[in-house]
Amino acid sequence: MLGVDVAVKTFRDACTTAPVVPPISVFIVKLAELCNINCRYCYMYNLKDVSYLNRPKVMAARTRDALIARIREHAQEHKLARITLMLHGGEPLLAGKAYIEGWAAAARSGLAGDTEVLLAMQTNGILIDDEWCEIFGRHDIRLGVSIDGPRAYNDKYRVDHRGAGTFDLAVAGYRRLMRIEAGRGHKPALLSVANPEIPPREMWNLWRSLEARFVDFLLPHYTHDDPPPFDLRLLSDWMIALFDLWWEHDDPEIEVRYFRNIINLILGSTFSMDYLGGKPTGIVVIESDGAVTGYDTLRACEEGLIELGFNVRENSLESARTHPIFRLCNHPGAFLSPTCARCRVRDVCGGGFITHRYSRERGFNNPSVYCDSLLAIISHIERRVAAELRQAEMAADCIALSRR
Ligand code: SF4
Repeated sequence: MLGVDVAVKTFRDACTTAPVVPPISVFIVKLAELCNINCRYCYMYNLKDVSYLNRPKVMAARTRDALIARIREHAQEHKLARITLMLHGGEPLLAGKAYIEGWAAAARSGLAGDTEVLLAMQTNGILIDDEWCEIFGRHDIRLGVSIDGPRAYNDKYRVDHRGAGTFDLAVAGYRRLMRIEAGRGHKPALLSVANPEIPPREMWNLWRSLEARFVDFLLPHYTHDDPPPFDLRLLSDWMIALFDLWWEHDDPEIEVRYFRNIINLILGSTFSMDYLGGKPTGIVVIESDGAVTGYDTLRACEEGLIELGFNVRENSLESARTHPIFRLCNHPGAFLSPTCARCRVRDVCGGGFITHRYSRERGFNNPSVYCDSLLAIISHIERRVAAELRQAEMAADCIALSRR
């Protein structure tokens, strides 16, 4: 438990002067803590924390109702105009069609009122059939599907419990969704884990062939105790090459959220995702037993680190909001290591994702384990954006001159 103690002490020391984080507006609900596949790098099942063994496989109806009541209470107290309810797992579709319909109906009726509710779900896509698509349409559930690159690379890591690849099933589910969602006027999002083994052109071609509209990638969850098994220069080159493909394609129909986020931050945005930028967020993760946690990805750091000691069956979300770990997760830019505090790009990077800062020795008082790659990709995007702005300025000057 040494690592947990150091981490909590880091939080507590840092939080004494920290601002209170904004109200919670994104609720990630682990409604199914089981999965039909077994990704080799899965933070839920294959890294440090195994608390899923002691939690319900599927959230009980009374926990669901308690959670919805807590969300309603929180939304009313803070007069929230909009919230996102993200149904998550494990694999949420394993809970079954009737269960998900019941969840969606309970959420829609329990949260009806002044707050707009965006209902979303992250899935591995494998179980999606036409009946599921109808359910998503009936309850207006927006989907994100996880596919980690072209078949050969996806199937090296995203395997079923017998070790077989899952690419074809996931793509079939994604394409089925695409057909139905297009009729509803939107497209599913595509989520990938960054992998420098994949030639960037092949990654880009996959996104294009899947007609992806919204894409994001996440850096795999490593810490200073378990550093990435690849050379960070390869990751830097991978991200830079992928950015250049996206930037030069210049198609507003394809949004790569990771890169867009960096551009927005360079241009002074005060909004960021949880993994970049370090700005205040307002995200909570609820486990299948109703436990309120800091980020679920802290499972990659240490057994027990996600536990805050609150449960929606006994505690308000407001009480959890004051917990040091919750505050750290929701405003990581306010708790920077000395190296990050001096860093030129700290307002864009934000010190990196909180999980990637961890070490048993120093808790979260470290730069990201991806520091070199973050510095490289941010510096590259800065240069490209600056060049674009200079060109636009020159073009404007030319137009002004020609009108004289
Ligand atoms: S680039 Fe490195 S030093 Fe700079 S803020 Fe990010 S993690 Fe910290």
